[in-house]
Amino acid sequence: MALSAMEIYKLLPQTNCGDCGFPTCLAFAMQLANKQVSLDDCPHVSEEAKQELASASAPPIQLIKVGSGEREIELGKETVLYRHEETFHNQPGLGALVSDELNDEELQEKFSYFKEFSYERIGETIAFELVGVKNDSGDPGRFAEVVGLLLESTGQIPVLISQDPEAVEKAFSENAELAERRPLIFAATAANSDKMAALAAEHDAALAVKGNGLEELAELTPEIKEAGVENILLNPGTEEPLATLQEMTQIRRQALKNNFRPLGYPTVSLVEGDDPQEQLLDAATYTCKYNDIVLIEDAKAWQALPLTVLRQNIYTDPRVPPTVEAKAFEVGEDLDENAPVLMTTNFALTYFTVASEVETSRVPSYILTVDTEGQSVLTAYSSENLNAEIAAKALKESGLEDKLNHREVIIPGYIAVMSGSLEVESGWDVVVGPREASGIPAFLRDYTPGEGQ
Ligand code: SF4
Repeated sequence: MALSAMEIYKLLPQTNCGDCGFPTCLAFAMQLANKQVSLDDCPHVSEEAKQELASASAPPIQLIKVGSGEREIELGKETVLYRHEETFHNQPGLGALVSDELNDEELQEKFSYFKEFSYERIGETIAFELVGVKNDSGDPGRFAEVVGLLLESTGQIPVLISQDPEAVEKAFSENAELAERRPLIFAATAANSDKMAALAAEHDAALAVKGNGLEELAELTPEIKEAGVENILLNPGTEEPLATLQEMTQIRRQALKNNFRPLGYPTVSLVEGDDPQEQLLDAATYTCKYNDIVLIEDAKAWQALPLTVLRQNIYTDPRVPPTVEAKAFEVGEDLDENAPVLMTTNFALTYFTVASEVETSRVPSYILTVDTEGQSVLTAYSSENLNAEIAAKALKESGLEDKLNHREVIIPGYIAVMSGSLEVESGWDVVVGPREASGIPAFLRDYTPGEGQ
């Protein structure tokens, strides 16, 4: 039974130290009672109290893990219905689906594409995390063979899509490596749940539970947990996008608002069909609300691009601007002591835009990012998070003086007004660069450090 805020408060240290980010223990207790924070956020709570608080602090949506090693992904542990209330914590896994009815050549082609597909956006390497094999053939032997091919060809987390326990069992027995990769099995149903749960528990695999409606799901999950499966995902068994969206939303609401444990798990959807544009729309809808793994037929690059951008936008923390480290980054190869130095802020979007333009210029350069708490150049300048004193300190601490035979820094054109005071504060010569990052390639082509511009 959940504890009230006052009951939780009585078990906290009551020192109001503020280390949890709240001014008082009572404020923290209220948030904990509402499942908005984790008990781990208070570093001072005693072991005894921790045990008493366990039921109150258990996440309403369980944290589950799929995959192994560097490929492991964490899902769930969400605490809010709307991102602006706090943040969403664990972004959905994106994966592709293939049928075991394809021939080996077609499969190899798809697997190599899934393996190779990757790009970088705002410092994050984006790729498919999972690849699912559908047992369309109905033949356990062929299914096991294709799973074997998948394991040989890609490093992605395997998803075994079959409701036939014999096929899943064969995939494990014929492929020793499969259990080590900690796959996801899709799915246990009312008809096979005992056998699927036994397989998942034996191989420490995650198990998706597919219900014919939420009531059936809620009946199945306690039994599967009881059978020893730790990592459970939910699939409402709906086919139509609207029904799926409604069920996903209900699952999330029941878990967060009513603390209904049988539905307190992440969710998974398969997006299939003949129309790739419809698939994309469905997958995007489920990414918005409230899917934790989306597997899409074929997953072409043009589908993956908007989905991964959408995912990244939804799953960044709105309370914290995306930042990069404040330091001198080397962009390009073989930088020597004559390399140009461009100054900007540590706002991630600004840095990656500048870095991309420097790469385009093919002039190996240093980009010095000043710590402005993630503010862009003009915002930081107008809020005094970027001034001559702060910029001079960043130059001094960057170590660039030991690497270069010149003392010249290029500052963004928007803060040209700072050039005189920066020269005085730092002792460096200051060159005013272009206002927009897009002007950097042309600027660098005509620029020689030490000779001004
Ligand atoms: S960190 Fe713990 S002791 Fe400190 S204010 Fe928060 S709840 Fe109270």
